[in-house]
Amino acid sequence: MSPGTRPLVLGNWKMSLTGTEAAVYVRSLLPRLGSPADREIAVAPPFTALAAVAAQLKGSTVKLAAQDLFWEDEGPYTGEISGVMLQDAGVTYVLVAHSERRRHLEENDRLASLKMRAALRSGLCPILCVGEDEAERAAGRAERVVRTQLALGLEGVGPGEASRVHVAYEPVWAIGTGRAATAGQAAEMHTLIRLELRSLFKTGAAAVRILYGGSVTPQNVDELMGSPGVDGVLVGGASLKAEEFARIAAYRVAR
Ligand code: PEP
Repeated sequence: MSPGTRPLVLGNWKMSLTGTEAAVYVRSLLPRLGSPADREIAVAPPFTALAAVAAQLKGSTVKLAAQDLFWEDEGPYTGEISGVMLQDAGVTYVLVAHSERRRHLEENDRLASLKMRAALRSGLCPILCVGEDEAERAAGRAERVVRTQLALGLEGVGPGEASRVHVAYEPVWAIGTGRAATAGQAAEMHTLIRLELRSLFKTGAAAVRILYGGSVTPQNVDELMGSPGVDGVLVGGASLKAEEFARIAAYRVAR
């Protein structure tokens, strides 16, 4: 992360909350978050709640994110949502190739790269999700898996676009399991990701924020955020409870 770039705390609501529920939730969340100047906060509702959440976020510093996008800008793709549409809806960040999409919808690295490029083309800041599963870690293949996901997912993305690129290291075994990576495991993988980004983007790599995701809670966020190379967190389950998400967003790093 470049000096001066702020850490990012992003809540991924997954397939939760209708537009009506989301509006109620955001109204209770905003006063708890305040407007901290040293960090960025964003929420990623489902597509159907984007408009309701955008309306609630007007005048606040909290940014809007989406959970996915299609790789073309428009056309005969029934059911899909383009980056252009997300940009128009007030979205800043968009997740790409979340492990739940890789698993349930068979999204692969080729689609990830097409979606990264579509997001950048539309002026969005894409967040490429990478991470090994339990068997891959047990077999000693975690680093190779993450390196491959990065190289293929970022194919066709130029160094000039690196300042809008984000990576989320989300070990699959840590997502929704209550078993977060240790600060040491996160630091190790974030260092590897930074090295890989340097070989792809050269000096442009410094601007890329690398988030950690996987069972982040109020109890472990301070330690994870204090871990070298962690530039933010991607929060699933705990982002649906206003008090917990606000405490996570208010993480404190011991110096
Ligand atoms: C996620 O879905 O990106 C995630 C990190 O989930 P959880 O925090 O629930 O593990």
